[in-house]
Amino acid sequence: MRVVALAGGVGASKLLRGLVRVLPPGSLTVVGNTADDIEVHGLHVSPDLDTIAYTLGSAADPERGWGLAGETWNARDAMERYGMATWFALGDRDLATHLYRTRRLREGACLSEVTQEICAAWNVTTPVLPMTDDPVTNRIVVDVDGTAEDIHFQEYLIRRGSPPGVIRSYVAGVETARPLPAVVEAIRTADALVLCPSNPVVSIGPILAVPGVREAIQRSRARKIAVTPIIGDAPVRGPADKLMPAAGIDVSCAGIARHYADLVDTLVIDVRDRDRAAEVAVFAKCVVADTLMTDLDASVGLARVVCADLGLGGLSA
Ligand code: GDP
Repeated sequence: MRVVALAGGVGASKLLRGLVRVLPPGSLTVVGNTADDIEVHGLHVSPDLDTIAYTLGSAADPERGWGLAGETWNARDAMERYGMATWFALGDRDLATHLYRTRRLREGACLSEVTQEICAAWNVTTPVLPMTDDPVTNRIVVDVDGTAEDIHFQEYLIRRGSPPGVIRSYVAGVETARPLPAVVEAIRTADALVLCPSNPVVSIGPILAVPGVREAIQRSRARKIAVTPIIGDAPVRGPADKLMPAAGIDVSCAGIARHYADLVDTLVIDVRDRDRAAEVAVFAKCVVADTLMTDLDASVGLARVVCADLGLGGLSA
């Protein structure tokens, strides 16, 4: 049994921590988004890959969902003393990850190799594959007082606090990016494919936009399922509601169903949206479940629902 999960950061990781407990050991491969990557103080930061590694390594901060538990912020405070920009907060322990990654990349290692090393350091045995080793970047074009500004996604999200007025978003560099061969192979040989509850524009979108990935999914004979990141008319967290309209996606589970119609067999929508099941069923088989993963038990429960639809119903944690 080979299961491949396409994943962004926090939303995805909450489902992944359930899937690793429900699936047979060694059956899951994660394909992670790298378009949120950013250089901070000369360091290469891969927020989504780190969130996955820390979560699967049971080291993530449970409240924030990102970064490490028990984090301290002495380096950031000292940087402020020098007037350095600290809007992208890096904790003291987290800094070690970025120092290590940056050093290894400068030595000539690929992002995929370094990701494997970082995962190993956190005792993560599930393969976590960046979608590509090539640099790609989410860019947001936003209206600021009548002027269109083209900014990095992290600047939009964190520094500016996700304002409205998004004109469009795009993934810089993706047209020429090469998919990781292991990603295409994992999708080709998968028995099941899961699109995690992640931002469809800046998390799942960039993975699908890497040349060859969408085609590999469409060609794959795997059973395919997505979990909605939208409950009601809003994301559980994050700026999806600001980015989806500009990408032509309705901010609802029905909008997600339409958007993924050519990719998945099934969409899991939230119980709070059960009255929209008929709309969703136009595009995909609709499964209704509690998708709000407030704790580990909720993640395991949702992972069981996903596995049942994939025909892995007899498995238990
Ligand atoms: P990010 O890169 O850290 O923002 O992470 P993702 O792209 O993986 O996750 C962001 C998306 O996950 C948002 O659209 C959220 O609505 C969704 N999300 C987060 N937590 C949950 C949850 O518990 N349930 C569901 N259904 N979606 C969630």
